[in-house]
Order: sequence, then structure tokens, then C-alpha cells
Amino acid sequence: MKIYFFATAYSRVPKGLFVKGAPWKSVQFPILNALIEHNGDLILLDTGLGTRIGEEMKLPQYRAQAFFNRFVMRTVFDAGRDPLIHQLPANGFDHLAVKYVILSHLHWDHAGGMRDFPNAKFIVGKKEWEAATASDSHKHAYISEQYDLSDNLDIDLVSTVPGQSFLGFPDSLDLFGDGRFILVDLPGHSEGLMGVFVTLPSGKRFLFPGDSFYFPENLEGNAPKSRLMQKLVHEKNQVNETLKTLHDLAKAEPDLEIVSYHDHRIPGRYQLAPVYYE
Ligand SMILES: [Zn+2]
Repeated sequence: MKIYFFATAYSRVPKGLFVKGAPWKSVQFPILNALIEHNGDLILLDTGLGTRIGEEMKLPQYRAQAFFNRFVMRTVFDAGRDPLIHQLPANGFDHLAVKYVILSHLHWDHAGGMRDFPNAKFIVGKKEWEAATASDSHKHAYISEQYDLSDNLDIDLVSTVPGQSFLGFPDSLDLFGDGRFILVDLPGHSEGLMGVFVTLPSGKRFLFPGDSFYFPENLEGNAPKSRLMQKLVHEKNQVNETLKTLHDLAKAEPDLEIVSYHDHRIPGRYQLAPVYYE
């Protein structure tokens, strides 16, 4: 079992927007994914930006997303170079061999590459799916063309099992029944966001909590995003409770590596593929 990290883009954001009380200096962060080899299968965590994002952003109903991407995140992205389907072959992987894609949530910078993986089964939280396919989802950070069912996407809607507790979470889902991928509910940043714990045979354990926080400072200091940011992405009230849960978990489990999909310490703390962790 091996974990590889990939970045499909880099954004340059004012830190104070993402961490309440931090200076408004410009900081670069990646749009990350992880690819995991497990028992011969390829399992992707989120997809980052895909090949079609430019066209999708041109649709008039997604003006807010295009504005946010261009002027708040100031994302640098080359559709001919950066999507995973262009990066995977250079690292010896075939995108058509990706068997599962586990989505933390369906915001455009996470679901953007879904249609680039025609053979994958997509694991999506049921609550997240309902939010992302609601008639007003375009007002939030969703682009529903990315997961349009008319493209025959194979989507498996999942929910945590009540009472199946894991590391302090009251409900969880052991996705493959082998304890390697455990999903938990982390509502707030989006309605049905799910985090995934990945436990390697070495005992090393990661938690990928999606965008429940962006910067390590959010997690370490229990410091929420700015109010403006919470408003811009229409976060729900539970977001600060979820952050507190993660903050307490990080303190209780110092060996657990909690990596957001915009963790600016990567590359650095962990290197991008072809380097891997096992
Ligand atoms: Zn994001």
C-alpha cells in the first residue's frame, strides 16, 4: 500500500481570508489529491481540477466560481499539463485503471476531474450528493456539469453507520471492510463533507479532512476561517464545531497526520509523486 501526492494547481491567496486574525499576506497553496495503491487497485482521493474546467467556468451560472478562482485564489493551472490524466502517465499510472475515487465533497476544485476517469466508481456522501444536486447548488461552490449523470458516471452514495464509532467520531464507515479506509462526517464547509482516514500497513495513519480547514494554523490554533471566507463559500454553522473536533483529535493523536487538500506544507513535509509513503 503506497500513497502518492499530486497537485493539479497552485493558488495564491491572502492568508487572512483563510485564517481569522492572520496577516493578509499572499501565500501559495496547492490543490492536492492523493493516489493510493492498495492490493493492486488504484484509489484516488479527490480529483482536483480537470481538463474541462475552463469551459465549465465560462457558463454564466458559474460566474461566482470563476470570480473566486481568478481573483481570490488566483489559480495557476494549465489544462494541457496539470490535470491528473496528464500527470499520471509520467508516474507510471494509467488513469483508466483508477478503480475508485473517494470524494471528500463536490466543490469545483475537488470534483473537477471526475469525467476524466470513465472507469472509476465514485464514492460520494449521500448528504453531499443531495446538496450538490439541489436546484440552487450553482450559487454555492458546485459546478454540476462535473458530475452530470448523463455521462454514465458510476456513483456510489454512502453514509456513515450510526454507532460504529472511530477515534471519537460516533459514526463511521469502513469502506472496504479492511480498516484501511474509514469515512467520517465532517459537516460545515459543505453540507455532507466526509473525511477519510487512511491507515498504512506500517501503522502510519493519515486523515484527509477535505476543506474543513485550509492552513495548519487553522487546525493547530483552532482558528476558524475569516467570517468573509465562511460567507463566500456558504459554510454551515457546524464548520467551527468540526474544526474544534479536528483540533482536539490532533492533540489526542499526535502521530496522526491530518492533511487538508490545500496544505501549503506540501510539497515539503511530504513530496509529490513519484515519491511515495508506505
Ligand atoms: Zn477546495
